[in-house]
Amino acid sequence: MDSNTASKEQNSSLEQHDEPLMFEAKTIPLKGIGLVALQDIPQGTLIIQEKPLLVTRPGAPAALEAFLSSELKKLDKASQRQFLSLHNNFPGKHPFAGIMKTNALPCGSGSEIGAVYPTICRINHSCLPNSQNTWNSDTKIETIFAISPIKCGEEITISYDKGGPSAVRQASLKQSFGFQCTCVVCSQPKALLRESDTRRSRIQQLDGQIGDPFRMWKSPGESLKDCHSLLQLLKAEYGGYSEPFAARLYYDAFQISIAHGDKVRASIFAEKSYEARLMCEGGETPEAKKVKMLATNPSNHSSFMVYSSKWKNTKKEKFGEADNEAFERWLFRISN
Ligand SMILES: [Zn+2]
Repeated sequence: MDSNTASKEQNSSLEQHDEPLMFEAKTIPLKGIGLVALQDIPQGTLIIQEKPLLVTRPGAPAALEAFLSSELKKLDKASQRQFLSLHNNFPGKHPFAGIMKTNALPCGSGSEIGAVYPTICRINHSCLPNSQNTWNSDTKIETIFAISPIKCGEEITISYDKGGPSAVRQASLKQSFGFQCTCVVCSQPKALLRESDTRRSRIQQLDGQIGDPFRMWKSPGESLKDCHSLLQLLKAEYGGYSEPFAARLYYDAFQISIAHGDKVRASIFAEKSYEARLMCEGGETPEAKKVKMLATNPSNHSSFMVYSSKWKNTKKEKFGEADNEAFERWLFRISN
C-alpha cells in the first residue's frame, strides 16, 4: 500500500523490541514497498502487533479532513511522517482523508471504524494471503499472524478483497486501491483461473446458504452437509491457506448443531473453530476466548435448542485414527 518512501523509520520504530525482526520493508517490483520475511516463519506465528496511528469512522470528505488534520497535529513528528508516507490512491482536495481511505483496515470484521498503522499498512494484498490481520477489541491492537508457513524471502501478504471470482476482485481492488492484482491466483493460466473462479463463486454461494437462518431451522441436516461441501471446496481452492475460512465454517456448524440441541457435535465444532482461530489470531481475542469456552460448555450459547431439541440425545461415537473419513461423515451427519 506504499508509494515509494524509504522504510527505515518503520523498522527503527519496531527495533526497540529485544527480539530480532522477522521481516524487512523493501521495494517489491510493481508494488511499491512491502514486507518480506527475513527467516522461515512457522504457521500460527505472531509476526507484528501494532497500535493504530489514527482511528476514524467514515464521514463527508471535508469534515473527515478537518478531523484528521486536528488528530494528526496531536501525534509526534515521527508518527506524522509515518502517516504522510502512506500511499494515497485518492489525491485531490482531501489528502489526509485519501490516505485514510486507501490504507485503513476495519477495526473488527464488518466494522465501519477503520485504523491506519505504521507498519501493518505496508503489507500488500494477495488473493491467496499467507497472513491474517485481526483487530483485538479488548487490547485495541491489530495483529498479523502467519496462517501458513512462510519461507525466508517470501513476501508477507494479507487479503484486501471480499472474495468472489477474479473479475469481481479485480474491479473492487482497482476501485478501492488503484491496482491490478498479479498474485499467484490472478496470474494463473486462463483455464486454471476459470476453475478457481468457479470454486470461489460456489464458495460464496454455499456461504450464503449456510448463513440462512430459515434453512438452519427447517433443514439443519442440509445446512451441515453444505458445511461439509464448503470444507472440501476450501481445501481445494485455498489448500494450506484455508484456516481463516475454517474458523468461520466450524463456528457455523457449531451454531447449527447447538440450535437443535446437539452438544456433542457442537463441542467438537467449537474446538475445531478455536484451533483454527489460534493459528490466525492467537488465543487472546474475545472471539477466540468465547469459542474456547463454548467447546467446554456448548449449552452456554444463547441459541441452545432455540430451533428444536431433536438432536439433544446425541451420543459420542468412537473412531480410530485411521477412520478419519468415517468420523467426518458422522460429524457432518452425512449418511451414505
Ligand atoms: Zn489476486
